[in-house]
Amino acid sequence: MASISLRNVVKKYGKGKQELQVIHGVDAEIADREFVVIVGPSGCGKSTLLRMVAGLEEISGGEIDIGGRVVNELEPAERDIAMVFQNYALYPHMSVFDNMAYGLKIKKMPIAEIKQRVDKAAGILELGHLLDRKPRQLSGGQRQRVAMGRAIVRQPQVFLFDEPLSNLDAKLRAQTRLEIQKLHRELGITSLFVTHDQVEAMTLAQRMIVMNAGRMEQFGTPEEVYHRPASTFVASFIGSPP
Ligand code: ADP
Ligand code: MG
Repeated sequence: MASISLRNVVKKYGKGKQELQVIHGVDAEIADREFVVIVGPSGCGKSTLLRMVAGLEEISGGEIDIGGRVVNELEPAERDIAMVFQNYALYPHMSVFDNMAYGLKIKKMPIAEIKQRVDKAAGILELGHLLDRKPRQLSGGQRQRVAMGRAIVRQPQVFLFDEPLSNLDAKLRAQTRLEIQKLHRELGITSLFVTHDQVEAMTLAQRMIVMNAGRMEQFGTPEEVYHRPASTFVASFIGSPP
């Protein structure tokens, strides 16, 4: 299992006159097994920060440490993370089983172990009766669960979620939130979850990082952030009582 340390993490896009700094020195310690939500308005740098943890975006300064190992120079595949996106592209021609198994097959894992991992994930996500279906034969919520299953079977040390619920309707979003909470209770995998929705953040977070314009405004439990906002930005974004 793994803690995550962000040490003075900086991101700049572009070069020379085009240079744009979008992350301004973020420091945070996420504990092993903790569920942390990164919340803030659109464009504040949430995805950029998450993508740097994932290794999908180069870091411009500072250090990211996963499980005691500095990962700045490591490829995504070497980081022991799994990411769940908003636009979960499933392979349309493959069954649910094959969609979940695909990443393990290309790693040449023995089929018996693949089957065991997929069955376990399908059990947790209640997909056991759908393993032979194709994505088009599933509801939106079921597809989202397959996308999560694909992440689970890899047994990563860290889960990264980038607004995975924002394409779902309100009812499904609430239901999927409960599933994500159950998943975290059962597997205890250190998780970073990005959303622009403060209600979602308050519901899911053990602790939350509130961001504004590339800076971390506050890092605390939902209670702390709500009752003791660190800035007027946090108070108004979260809707704290005056
Ligand atoms: P969020 O996920 O919080 O909405 P992003 O991390 O996507 O924010 O974006 C943060 C800032 O960085 C925004 O101003 C955005 O326009 C800019 N940005 C994001 N990706 C790139 C990129 N590839 N090149 C240049 N600027 C980018
Ligand atoms: Mg984003």
